[in-house]
Amino acid sequence: MNTSIIGYPRIGGLRELKFASEKYFRNEITADELEKTAKEIRSYNLSLQKKSGLDYIPSNDFSFYDGVLDTAFLLNAVPERYTSLGLSTLDTYFAAARGYQGEKGDVKAFAMKKWYNTNYHYMVPEIDDSTEIKLVGTKPFTLFGEALENGVKTKPVVIGAYTFLKLARYKGSKKAEDFAEQTAAAYSELLKKFNELGAEWIQFDEPSLVKDMTAEDIKLFVSLYEKILPNKGTVKVLVQTYFGDVRDCYKELCGLDFDGIGLDFTEGKKSLELVKANGFPKNKTLFAGVVNGKNIWRNNYASTLLVITELKKHTADIVLNTSCSLLHVPCTLANETKLDEKYKKHFAYAEEKLTELAEIKKIADAECPTETEEYRRNAALHSEPRSGGNEEVRNKVAALTEKDFVRLPEFAEREKIQKARFELPLFPTTTIGSFPQTAEIKSARNAHRKGEMSDSNYESFIEKKIADCVALQEEIGLDVLVHGEFERNDMVEYFGECLDGYLFTEKAWVQSYGTRCVKPPVVWGDISRAKPMTVRWSVYAQSLTKKPMKGMLTGPVTILNWSFPREDISLKESALQIALAIREEVLDLEANGISIIQVDEAALREKLPLRKSDWREDYLDWAIPAFRYVHSGVKPETQIHTHMCYSEFADIIKDIDDMDADVITFEASRSDLTILDVLKENNFRTEVGPGVYDIHSPRVPSKEEIKAAVSKMRERIPAEKLWINPDCGLKTRGNAETVPSLTNLVNAAKEARNENC
Ligand code: GLN
Ligand code: ZN
Repeated sequence: MNTSIIGYPRIGGLRELKFASEKYFRNEITADELEKTAKEIRSYNLSLQKKSGLDYIPSNDFSFYDGVLDTAFLLNAVPERYTSLGLSTLDTYFAAARGYQGEKGDVKAFAMKKWYNTNYHYMVPEIDDSTEIKLVGTKPFTLFGEALENGVKTKPVVIGAYTFLKLARYKGSKKAEDFAEQTAAAYSELLKKFNELGAEWIQFDEPSLVKDMTAEDIKLFVSLYEKILPNKGTVKVLVQTYFGDVRDCYKELCGLDFDGIGLDFTEGKKSLELVKANGFPKNKTLFAGVVNGKNIWRNNYASTLLVITELKKHTADIVLNTSCSLLHVPCTLANETKLDEKYKKHFAYAEEKLTELAEIKKIADAECPTETEEYRRNAALHSEPRSGGNEEVRNKVAALTEKDFVRLPEFAEREKIQKARFELPLFPTTTIGSFPQTAEIKSARNAHRKGEMSDSNYESFIEKKIADCVALQEEIGLDVLVHGEFERNDMVEYFGECLDGYLFTEKAWVQSYGTRCVKPPVVWGDISRAKPMTVRWSVYAQSLTKKPMKGMLTGPVTILNWSFPREDISLKESALQIALAIREEVLDLEANGISIIQVDEAALREKLPLRKSDWREDYLDWAIPAFRYVHSGVKPETQIHTHMCYSEFADIIKDIDDMDADVITFEASRSDLTILDVLKENNFRTEVGPGVYDIHSPRVPSKEEIKAAVSKMRERIPAEKLWINPDCGLKTRGNAETVPSLTNLVNAAKEARNENC
């Protein structure tokens, strides 16, 4: 049996690519120096994979920012506003990724969206009626050549034609179907080039096949590949799916002239069933995703072996694969020097997953698999009882009843009480929570962590930052203030560290978007609140101002979604345990005089199952109640805010309203405010702050621009329900752009108020 992976993390074990790119953005290094770092990462990854004995090593899984953006550049789907800037190819690429504001012009970045049900974000390609899809890029060929020079004939990885067309946004009247011909021709060209270069396999990533597919979708998929595959020459084509099963198109997949089909047996609920019911074509290779690419637990060889045994009944030609790209897990356990071995032995990051694949291969090939040393060691590990149980928490969760999830009095009543209490102006202004995390703050936190800065020095340092931040917000004239979240490294990790049941890691970075990485904490045992987590800072911040100071928490669903979850209890059970802990914090804040509390559910949309038929049962039925439980115990005059990243919740708008928050802020500026119509159509009850500018980009929005956004919002949202705020937290920004941006925001709000009278 052979082994394969779908892709490898490209940020570098110590985030070398991130740091080099950021230096490049600050003009501290040249493009050549950046390229040198990139090359080192690629060559390191290559040698690691080679050493592990991996049979199919991917190339072109490397990206300076995002693989979908790479594909847009490969296929000439780059709007003129970027190409006409007259920048180098690399800088044009970064302009599309991050926006550009400089002597050559002022353009916004591509929109950014969550990558299926992960916390990775891709850049949304824009296609308009004049776009001409054709093969213009060379990156896949260059990287294939580079690996070849290093002695490895790789399997190049490219986003597939169907997925590319499904992910793009169509700005004109033409739709995906109208570009099918051109796209198929471009991919055919790509295959021809790889024939010339001597590639043996190419992998087309088609994760969109695991979503609900309409008859037209299937038609589009089939027609694309009917045109592409006749041009494959001697290159074998693997169609790789992940993040679910392909129940809508399994037959078509098997019928097309692919040489390999990649299926996900980890997240694909029905993958095995599909193979069992329909068989697997004789002339194709099955790339079986049995090693979880999304979680960090060691593979359970016994369960994996069961799957392989089942599959073997239907095909002899199996390649052992990961369930998705390893992009979604950290690089290597070697950098986790502080994690106790009793936990660490249960972990497998990308590098360790390579070892797992090699071991599973050995086991699967053995005459007596269960007799192998590797199998026995793994079985012993998985049979150890797990520490970290908390009976009290389990009992509390079990005792929850319907009424625990209902806040009274109902919304309209509370809205009146709160309007009278806060007396805020029309279009109140606020921010989402964090203020710029400057180098000074990060280094103080590091020093504190290492014990080089005493607790009391660190605390006074943070207090000073909070005081400055409050003064700044007063000066700018914001209405509802925040403390700035300077004490937090990350909105989830911070809470993970304050909760019992969590483990946290040192270097377990995972790419979130571009150069931004997150370090998800690990749910190990039952969760409970060991001590108050934020009260001290919020109370201090409130003491500095007469304006309302928002308490700032992360909600249970987001905490869970941005953690590596347990696999031995259900997500629902974990979410409710976390909800219990956050509720205690909410009540504590309220008791300590905090009148507005924001519970961020930034990631709520993210883990919505990819198929609609799974939404309720597998997710919303517990996620929405978990949020409601967090605030159902507060007084009517306490105002509950929530914040969600990304406005892609048109289809669950009722559920969002049902979270029963008093105010919700969310991203809108990057998606052209399309969500506003949906809010209006659905008589959205919750007060809303659709972000008026994009904080993911360093450009400063002008007052006029913000006013234009506000007037658009005014057409759809009743004035008394509209808040004005940026679209997300400001922690990744610098003060240089934050201060003028917020000043413009406040001035725009003031003018809008005057015009409204
Ligand atoms: N309150 C958080 C912040 O401002 C929210 C971040 C987020 O939505 N990702 O940083
Ligand atoms: Zn956000």
